[in-house]
Amino acid sequence: MAFERKTVRLTGEAPGTSTEFTWYAIGPADAPEKVHLQAALHADEHPGTMVLHHLLPMLRQADDQGLLRARFTVMPAVNPLSLRNFSSAPHIGRSDPRPGVNHNRRWPDLFPLIRSQLAGRLNDDVRFNVNLIRKSVAQWIDAQQPRNASEQLRLLVLRECHDAEFVLDLHCDDDSLPYIYTSPELMPELQDLSDWVGAAATLTAADSGGGSFDEVLPQLYRKVALANPGKPVPLATATATLEYRGRADVTDAYGADDARRLSVAEGADGPPAMPEGLPFEATEIVRADRPGLVAYRVDLGEQVNAGQPVADIISMEGPEAYMARTPILAGTDGFVLSRLSQKYVSRGAGIAKIVGTRILPGRKGAYLLED
Ligand SMILES: [Zn+2]
Repeated sequence: MAFERKTVRLTGEAPGTSTEFTWYAIGPADAPEKVHLQAALHADEHPGTMVLHHLLPMLRQADDQGLLRARFTVMPAVNPLSLRNFSSAPHIGRSDPRPGVNHNRRWPDLFPLIRSQLAGRLNDDVRFNVNLIRKSVAQWIDAQQPRNASEQLRLLVLRECHDAEFVLDLHCDDDSLPYIYTSPELMPELQDLSDWVGAAATLTAADSGGGSFDEVLPQLYRKVALANPGKPVPLATATATLEYRGRADVTDAYGADDARRLSVAEGADGPPAMPEGLPFEATEIVRADRPGLVAYRVDLGEQVNAGQPVADIISMEGPEAYMARTPILAGTDGFVLSRLSQKYVSRGAGIAKIVGTRILPGRKGAYLLED
């Protein structure tokens, strides 16, 4: 049994920029499984931090009672480098302002980095293969010399989660129902998780194109399996991104209820069944075709049909400035999963997600993320 607070100093590139990173390691060190939970990789998305704040005492109590069957790493704010980025008043946490890199994009494609370590060594024992892959990842991580605090942080997070059976990355949308992103191979196994989370949608993609954190380990196992036909290589880490509603939905009530649901996310007496997984390629990201002020015509959860106006854009320039309204139409049948909280948009901004069931031609094989 253990409930251990861990800290690492992330070394900044300039005086006064070093940061202390704090997380928790919980549960028996010899437990057969490992669960990694993290929140606020996008540092300005705080619902997940609130969930983990409420989950930590539950885990401590379960640990005290000897009830934990897994080791847990819990990182309630996995991106401490961005906690200081207050610009004027708003907190900027989605991207690293200096290189401009979204914190949940461009995570490494591990397969080419460890491919030579695996060559000719996989055999018919699935356990052996998974251990070999994990060992190779750990060796690659240990051999890296991070060039800056961001790399130091990413390597540390990968080191902690690479050998976990479950990796849950807690985010939020802007103004949204709760939903989940995961890999298609992990459904329907993760349907329990969708039910317990109360996910209005579970959107699946093998590769959304952005190098998201939750795709690092599934992509690795997928590629190792493809390169080694006939050898048993399972998708040994189940990963998912949990979108805990909208940015403003940070309350004790949500946090405590969501933590309770996560803490019991298995067992017979489950919650009501939530929708099955759907390909993310069937979700439309409705975009503004001009700048202006968005006036929504639909609510979250509302069913819409293709061609139906989702919102009007109120023009803010030209002869019809502040007078003209241009409808933005749904491109598919489905329900409204998310909207914007700030209503002034630039051309091309995503203003809503509509969860449909038919794969959209423009989305097939394309970059799927809203960014
Ligand atoms: Zn996010």
